Amino acid sequence: MNSEAALALLQNTYGYDAFRGQQSLAIESALNGHDSLILMPTGGGKSLCYQIPAQLREGTGIVISPLIALMQDQVTALRELGVSAAYLNSSQTLDEQKAITRQFAAGELQMLYIAPERLLKPKTLAYLSSQPISLIAVDEAHCVSQWGHDFRQDYLGLSVLKEHFPQAPLMALTATADQRTQQEIEQRLNLQSPVRFNASFDRPNIRYHVSVRQDARKQLIKFLAQHKNEAGIVYCLSRKKVESTAEWLVSRGVNALPYHAGLPASLRETHQQRFLREDDVVMVATIAFGMGIDKPDVRFVFHMDLPKSLEAYYQETGRAGRDGAASEAHMVYGLQDVVRLNQMLTESPMSEQQKQVERHKLNALLGWCEITHCRRQGLLNYFEEEAPTFCGNCDICLSPPKTREATTEAQMFLSAVYRTGQRFGTAHIVDVLRGLDTEKVKQHGHEQLSTYGIGKHLSAAHWQSIARQLIVQGYLSNDFERFGALTLTENSRALLRSEKTFHYREQLAEPQQRKKSTSRNGVSEADRALWDALRDCRKQLANEHDLAPYMIFHDATLM
Ligand code: ADP
Ligand code: MG
Repeated sequence: MNSEAALALLQNTYGYDAFRGQQSLAIESALNGHDSLILMPTGGGKSLCYQIPAQLREGTGIVISPLIALMQDQVTALRELGVSAAYLNSSQTLDEQKAITRQFAAGELQMLYIAPERLLKPKTLAYLSSQPISLIAVDEAHCVSQWGHDFRQDYLGLSVLKEHFPQAPLMALTATADQRTQQEIEQRLNLQSPVRFNASFDRPNIRYHVSVRQDARKQLIKFLAQHKNEAGIVYCLSRKKVESTAEWLVSRGVNALPYHAGLPASLRETHQQRFLREDDVVMVATIAFGMGIDKPDVRFVFHMDLPKSLEAYYQETGRAGRDGAASEAHMVYGLQDVVRLNQMLTESPMSEQQKQVERHKLNALLGWCEITHCRRQGLLNYFEEEAPTFCGNCDICLSPPKTREATTEAQMFLSAVYRTGQRFGTAHIVDVLRGLDTEKVKQHGHEQLSTYGIGKHLSAAHWQSIARQLIVQGYLSNDFERFGALTLTENSRALLRSEKTFHYREQLAEPQQRKKSTSRNGVSEADRALWDALRDCRKQLANEHDLAPYMIFHDATLM
């Protein structure tokens, strides 16, 4: 009965034939009053999971959403379908807000979108409690998790929802959540025996490709030559690079537009609209662009810089190929990126613990860049999903990289981890192997160990690369609770006994040799570029740069 009504609504109101994947089950569960945790990849169709039961149950459905633009888009789309929906946020005048609250109080709204900090005002909670609420949906629910990649302070306050609206089914929706984030979402939102919907995260139509940055612009233009007259996104880390890259592409005849949070709102809007309406716009953007952009035929996402984590990478590349047609995700990266991201982290206002999490994630991302087996498998394994060892649609499967056997070195590394008591992070283990006499080495008497200095033949960068691969391949785990201490795993034993061999990609993350060009005051151009980048990043941090779009969203001018 319920599901018939849901299907009728899907067909009559939305004009779609059938539900996708787990949509109908998720809707059914909300209609039956259950709390739920819904994990579906970007473009999977999460919105319908709450929009439909919100309309079918009695009362108003409340949707908590982190971005004003996202609320506006959804409300506009719903109104066009004839659904009575509205949003409340800081971008509205007082009169507009009053009109909405009146409508709500009269029971005229089927759906009300609201930002968390707005919802949590005692006054808002009080008047929302005065009316029947059909359900509460927390969209982008990973924002509640400090472990998740877009933590937002005001999402923490959402723990009170269950108390205020015990009757309403609570739905948490997200496209990125590993086990740990899922648990955190459940706890923090106080979900009551939630039904879990877990769609596969695989995006089989996206081809993944990662290469070391040599000449990024040359690499980009070569890539674009294979994507003539197609729409795509080129992500850059800094605003400055967005502008210079867009300008350069235009000069090469590409229909490119810049987008970052520092541009005037009207210009951003124009560029976004052009991207949506025209067929061949290449949007050059910081990560301020993309969330909630629903363009089905984005054919590629090109990363000029390393993103900040695999979660972020997955979300950013997930904007390609929502229509299911073949699409490409291409990234170029270099060691400089790592230095830069680390620096940005060090200077960011996050807590030490959060920084530790972010560093750990950056390392996992690097490990993935240097992976020697199927990239798709690596990505899905990161999200704790089983996957076949060969996808046939990533750079590694299509052209396996040259690897070096380093079983002996791997054994050295594992022994050093073991002998130091599985209490230290990569940096210290590498120091021990290379026989450095640091304070920490002396303090723990590690110069006495048999593994001390046995790895002098390799550079620190080499050892770090081996360490990342040991982690990616499951021979070591990185204990976050103990500040990134490396510990042995079940698999380590087999490798230590030489029952398994270990291969890794040599030198992949080393910067390319640059021509020696030294300017007048003796600073090389490479160094200068790096320092420019760092200064640029610092400036960005100072005016709350685009790395944290969630954190700054409630200032409507920054959207
Ligand atoms: P998500 O929030 O999971 O990223 P959305 O809810 O924005 O995804 O949906 C992505 C796109 O898929 C939208 O254009 C939506 O209209 C479309 N869509 C969702 N469900 C269906 C369906 N059952 N049939 C056809 N299209 C659908
Ligand atoms: Mg969504």
